[in-house]
This record gives sequence, structure tokens and C-alpha cells, in this order.
Amino acid sequence: MDVSAHIEAVYDDLRRRDPGEAEFHQAAQEVLHTMGPVLEAHPEYVEARIVERLCEPERQLMFRVPWVDDQGTVRVNRGFRVEFNSALGPYKGGLRFHPSVNLGIVKFLGFEQIFKNALTGMAIGGGKGGADFDPKGRSDGEVMRFCQAFMTELYRHLGEHTDVPAGDIGVGAREIGYLFGQYKRITNRYEAGVLTGKPVGWGGSHVRTEATGYGAVYFAQEMLATRGQHLDGRRVVISGSGNVAVYAAEKVHALGGLVVACSDSSGYVVDEDGLDLELLKEVKEVRRSRISAYAEARPAARFSDRGSVFDVPCDIALPCATQNELNQQDAVALVKNGVLAVAEGANMPCTPDAVEVFRDARILFGPGKAANAGGVATSALEMQQNAARDSWTFERTEDRLAAIMRQVHSQCRVTAATYGGDPDDYVFGANATGFLRVAEAMTAQGVV
Ligand code: NDP
Repeated sequence: MDVSAHIEAVYDDLRRRDPGEAEFHQAAQEVLHTMGPVLEAHPEYVEARIVERLCEPERQLMFRVPWVDDQGTVRVNRGFRVEFNSALGPYKGGLRFHPSVNLGIVKFLGFEQIFKNALTGMAIGGGKGGADFDPKGRSDGEVMRFCQAFMTELYRHLGEHTDVPAGDIGVGAREIGYLFGQYKRITNRYEAGVLTGKPVGWGGSHVRTEATGYGAVYFAQEMLATRGQHLDGRRVVISGSGNVAVYAAEKVHALGGLVVACSDSSGYVVDEDGLDLELLKEVKEVRRSRISAYAEARPAARFSDRGSVFDVPCDIALPCATQNELNQQDAVALVKNGVLAVAEGANMPCTPDAVEVFRDARILFGPGKAANAGGVATSALEMQQNAARDSWTFERTEDRLAAIMRQVHSQCRVTAATYGGDPDDYVFGANATGFLRVAEAMTAQGVV
């Protein structure tokens, strides 16, 4: 069979059957269009229709989430869970609460998650979920009632051996706590392994909060090392100021780099002395304020709501906010300013034409599937601890995370080279490694 015709046919079919799911189309295209050399080498996967089966979720759920706000007004949101692929283990992937959430976004995230989770080498399948609920400006009581209503529907689909959600944008420790409480109440089971990202005091893992950001920096460090470079003394720009961004910044500082800018959806701050992370955490995690409050509290810093955080000159860029936040123009600005490496802390933050700019300029580029895999890998470590009713130290858990990120990095390079690609092509390396692991399991498990 003509492999490229097969890939085109799958992609055309997907766009025809799932119109309006732009982000899912983008994520699928990015994977499918790198699969040629792998499918040429494995005609059995073409025969078994692995690519078609991978593009179709095993199950997708959409449900009503009715709740009552502080004024007594009834509100109605839409909840989602896409259980994409369970060849390697229970569905695993976060929940996102953001007004932009729709089926196409959840499917793009779930699709990415299949390959990312496979790449970690852990026994986890791929899934993702969320709701078009906006937690911004909502009281704790409102967030709790929303989470309870959401879990009242979702609980029947979850289980430590079935589907294990975690956090994502808008879902942090507070939301995981409320979701877990409702699951426990409804099921009358203390099933710690049903959700990850729990606080350390009751079933959570050390390092889970830090894992995605730390892991992205470890990945950037590994990429730099292939060119004899390191983070020490480097200027770093990070987009976002949420969970991933804050802990990426913390690890950059620990390794001797200087984070000079970060952002949120209202603008960005530049702080040439290096971000004060205690202040940033206070502003974003405690006060839940806008990023401009950081600049108000720190005279050396300035806030801007014009242009992009990626206009700030840097050696390393870590996009850690959301999908398609770094466009071609941003990529050109980064290259012009001499960027050495870009590692995606967020999922699909760079547009396809931005990735092309990095590729043409031979900038080291770590795609999210590989660079941000530390979060879900540590979730899998949390599941291991829950299953054993054990709790590891911070150091032991961080050592595991660091080893996993090194392994993810080297595996990308090895697979890319094995299939005739450039070892620096982490996009191909990550897609191919993840695909091969899932395809082997799906083939062995038959047509299911
Ligand atoms: P948070 O909710 O903690 O933070 C999100 C940050 O991104 C905030 O600063 C937010 O700004 C900003 N942001 C969100 N949406 C937009 C937007 N449309 N435009 C500009 N800025 C935006 O989320 P996380 O840090 O957990 O997640 C960030 C990214 O990392 C996401 O892509 C997520 O899928 C990915 N990821 C997260 C993992 C995790 O473990 N948490 C694991 C792997 C990937 P504002 O407050 O103004 O909305």
C-alpha cells in the first residue's frame, strides 16, 4: 500500500467526520505527517489500521454540569471526558476548566496524551477532559459546587484501573481536592489512585506540583548538552505564570539561569534582575491576581499589554501557557534575538509555521509531547505510591523524574536516527517512539 496515500486518506476522513475541531485536526496532522518512515518499516501497522484506530477515541463523553452560584442563580456548563486509548494502561490525562474548552480542544489534548504517555515508558493510556467553566473570579464555594456537580456525573466513568484524571489549566490542588471529596462521598471508597495531583498530606506525591515545569527544564538542559551548552548564566523567557511556568522558572534559577519575563492572558512582565518567584507565587497562587500586580509590587519590573513576551531577547524560550500562543512572528523574533533552544512546557503552544521557523534555523526544539511529559510521568509515580500505600521522599521522586526525562530525551534521538531521521528532530523522534509503543500493544491486543 502507498503509505502517504494511506496517511492522507486517514487525515481527510478525520476532517470530514469531525468538522470544526481545528485543534484536533492540527494535532493529528502534526503526528500523521511524520509517520511515513515508521509505517514504511511496519506494513503490519497499516494492515491493522492502527492509525485510523488511534484517531478515533475509544469513548467520548459530554455531559451537563448544573450548579448554583453565590447569588442563587442556576448555571449550566458542559463537561467532557475523552477516553482516547487504553492500550498501555488506564486512560490518563488532566482536566481543564477554561471558557474556551470544547470537544475539539479536549480531543487534541487527549490525542497528544496517548503519545506522550507512551513516551514516558509508564503503563498509562491517553485521555483528557474538562469543562467550559471559568474559575476566574469565582469564590471557593462556587468552585466547590461546580467540582461536585462535575464529579457527580463523571465518577461513574472513573476508577484507578479505568480512568485517572489530574489537573490542567484552571484545575490545581484546590479543584482536585473538591473533585476527590465528591468521588469519595458518592462511591464510599477511599480510592486514592483515582485522581493524581493530590496534596502530599493525603495521597499526593512529592514533586507532582513541580514536575511538569521541572521536567521541561531538564529536557531543555538535555537538548543544550548535545551542543555542549548549558543553562548556567542563560537568559530565559517563559510564557504563562501558572503551575507549569512557575516551577519551570524555579528550576531554571536552581540551575543558574535567569528568568527575565513571564506572562498571563492580560500581558507580560519583564524583570531584568530575574523573577522574584516568591512574589510571583504570592500574586498568582495566593491572591489569584493578574500579572500586572507583580510589577506593581516590584519597582524594577515593568508590565506590558502590547506585543508578545517572546519579543523579550533570550537564549531559551519556554512557552508554558496554552495552545497556539507562539506564532510565526514570535518565532522569527526569537531567532533574530539569538534563541538557542525552545522547549514546550504547554501542549502545542507553537503554531506549525513557528515550528518551521525553528526547524529552518536549526534551533533546538522540544515538542510538548516530550518536553512536558514529566507531569504525567510523576502522576504515574503517584499512582504507584497509591497502589503500594507508600510515600516516597522528595529526593527519591525527583531522581525518578530526572531519569525519566533523560530517557525520554535519548529515546527521541535514538528513534529518529533509527528511522533515518535527524537525531535533532525531536518532533519526529517523540511521535515515532510513542506511536511504536502503542501500535505494538494494539496489534498484540487484537481488533478491539
Ligand atoms: P494554569 O491554569 O496553572 O496556568 C495557565 C497559565 O497560562 C496562566 O498564566 C494563564 O493566564 C495562561 N493562559 C491560559 N490560557 C491562556 C490564553 N488563552 N492566552 C494567554 N495565556 C493563557 O495551567 P498549567 O500551568 O497547569 O498549564 C499550562 C499548560 O501546560 C497547558 O497547555 C497545559 O495543558 C500544559 N500542561 C500542564 C501540565 C500540568 O501538570 N499542569 C502537564 C502537561 C502539560 P490567565 O491566568 O490569564 O488565564
